This record gives sequence, C-alpha cells and structure tokens, in this order.
Amino acid sequence: MNTLSGRIAELIAAEGPLSVAQFMGICLHDPQAGTYAVRQTIGRDFITSPEISQTFGELCGLWAAQVWYDQGRPERPRLVELGPGRGTLMADALRAIAAAAPEFLKDAEVVLVETSPMLRDAQREKLKSYTAGISWQERFDERLADRPLLLIANEFFDCMPVRQYVRTARGWCERMVVVEDDKLAFALAPVPVDPSFIPSDRHEAPEGGVYETAPSGLALAEEIARTVELRGGGALIVDYGYDAPGFGETLQAVAEGQFSDVLDEPGDSDLSAHVDFMALAAAARAGGSSVYGPVTQCNFLAELAIGPRAEKLMLANPAKAHEIAAAVDRLVNPEKMGALFKVLGLVPKNTPQPPGFS
Ligand code: SAH
Repeated sequence: MNTLSGRIAELIAAEGPLSVAQFMGICLHDPQAGTYAVRQTIGRDFITSPEISQTFGELCGLWAAQVWYDQGRPERPRLVELGPGRGTLMADALRAIAAAAPEFLKDAEVVLVETSPMLRDAQREKLKSYTAGISWQERFDERLADRPLLLIANEFFDCMPVRQYVRTARGWCERMVVVEDDKLAFALAPVPVDPSFIPSDRHEAPEGGVYETAPSGLALAEEIARTVELRGGGALIVDYGYDAPGFGETLQAVAEGQFSDVLDEPGDSDLSAHVDFMALAAAARAGGSSVYGPVTQCNFLAELAIGPRAEKLMLANPAKAHEIAAAVDRLVNPEKMGALFKVLGLVPKNTPQPPGFS
C-alpha cells in the first residue's frame, strides 16, 4: 500500500465504500498525492498528440479561428482550453493563429482551465512569450458563459471520473471500492439501482456486462454546448473513445507506458477511461448546440490539410523531414492514433458546418 491507498482505506473505514468515480477523482486530484498534482505524467506515463507533432495544436487553433470567421467574427471571443497539460497545444495554436488570422487575437481573451498547480506552472512557462492576457481557472463555470466561446479539449474528457454499473441476476449494481484483507478491492453495491437509470440500449446486456458513464463529463459537455449556442463560437473535443454503445469497462491505469492495476498504487499511475462519444454528443445536443461527428482523428486532420502542412515543415527542416513525417503518421495512421481517437465539433444551430466534419 502506498500513502494514498492508506488514506483512501481510512476514508472508506470512516465513510463507507467509494464509487469508482470518487476513487478516480481522488487518485487524479488529491492535492498531496494525486497523479496530476504531483506526478510528471505527460511524456512519462503517456504521450499526447500536441507533444508528438506541432501540427496538431496548429490545426486546432486554426479550426477555432475559422469557426470564428464563419460566424462573422463575433466581438471579444474567448479562447479556452480544458486541461492544457504542458501548454504545448495552446502555444502551437496561438502561433498559428497569430500568423494566419491575427484579427482573432486582437480582442480575444485566453483562459486555461487546469486543476494542477504544477501543470499551471508548466503552462505559464511555455506561454510566457505570448504577451496578451492569459488567465487560469480551476474549472469551467459561469465565468466563461458571457462571451463567444472557442473551446479546445484534447485528452481531457478521458480524465472525467466514471461510474460503473454491473448487470447481475438481481439487476444493475454499482461497482464500489472497498477494503478487503487490508487491500483496496472492488465490490458490488448490494442494492441494484433503479433500472430507469440505465439507458435503454444497454438493457439487453449479458450478466456481468458493465455500463460505464462519466456524469461530470456529460454535464460539462452540456454546459459548453449551452454557452456555444447562446454566445456563439464552437468547441472541439478530441479524445480516444468509442462511438457505439458497448457493455465493456474501459477504466485503465497506465504507468510509464505500461498498463497496471487500477487499484494498485493509486496516484502513481494515470487513470483514464475511453470516452463514450455517443453519450457526449447527446449531452451536447441537450445543451442546445449543433453537434458534428464523431469523426476519426485521421479524417479530421486530413480534411484540415495536415499533409500539406507537414510537407511545408519538412521543406523548411530537411534534416528533420523523417522525424516530422513519422510524428504525423503516428497521429493519422488508423493503426496508431488515427482511428481510436475521435473528434466532436459543437457550433450554434444555424451557423456554417465547422471544418473537418464532412
Ligand atoms: N491536453 C493536454 C493534456 C492532457 S492530460 C495534451 O493534450 O497534452 C489531462 C489534462 O487535464 C491535464 O492538464 C490535467 O491536469 C487536466 N485535468 C484533468 N482533470 C481535470 C479537471 N477536472 N479540471 C481541470 N483540469 C483537469
């Protein structure tokens, strides 16, 4: 048992079993020992698209600028990134926007939504040459609801805590985290949940089938869609996930590139879950915006002309041409990140279709 599992065991002893979502939230965000609070996780446990190729952040930034143009350049836009990691995506996005669409930045405000003080420091350092005002907040809330919103979220929704329900002979029972023989263990809640809580397309699940859902992620998608619909702008959500309902659990722990046990060494591995894109799209529709996709990352980036952009970079850096091509291949190759990663686009109803979703 590491320190965090000892503290979680004490919490369970005092207050009873934790839902998987409560457990995941503590593992990721505990201020003293949570993964994002204390661990250098990006680049060590896993690597993300903006860290692989600068083209990724550039194209996300240009997507936001294009959506803003298509809506008649609404005044005082707010460019927001959820979970900006090391700040790489935003640095690449701002550089590309400054070169191709500087008008966008004239009265734009940039807000980074980040819980981790350690990562906020990394972002501040990465973005220090960018002079216009950047501010930070710990969560997406009503402060971001009063202006046109251009929002980017890459590998953010996979960190939204999931709850899990298991189909049993007596109904759907929530999976909980308990202490057994001095170790953290999974156990099912004795009393099943009300069946209306489980979406109808999952009712036919076999015994042992799992329904996994990320309530806080879905509520957030709905809130973002509401602001986009009301104020204009758009949201670009990129993550690994699935686009058909399934009965599987996807919560996973990764440490230094290897899968590990979810309950072992909490805080010392990265916990995440695949994103249910159909549920996310439905939540966004409930928030009132138009929803495009999900499309695969490969199709999205191809439509945004990642090929020509990579060629330009290769011409400018012939010594690095091979490296640049390999990095872009990693993003778009369906056997690498091209197909597992999906993209969802939100824009207000009755505005042009955003680029990347034909
Ligand atoms: N988007 C970045 C980093 C992905 S890792 C990239 O593509 O490289 C997930 C990021 O989301 C981290 O910055 C993490 O600290 C942040 N994060 C996770 N959960 C969060 C939450 N509930 N609120 C705000 N930020 C969160």
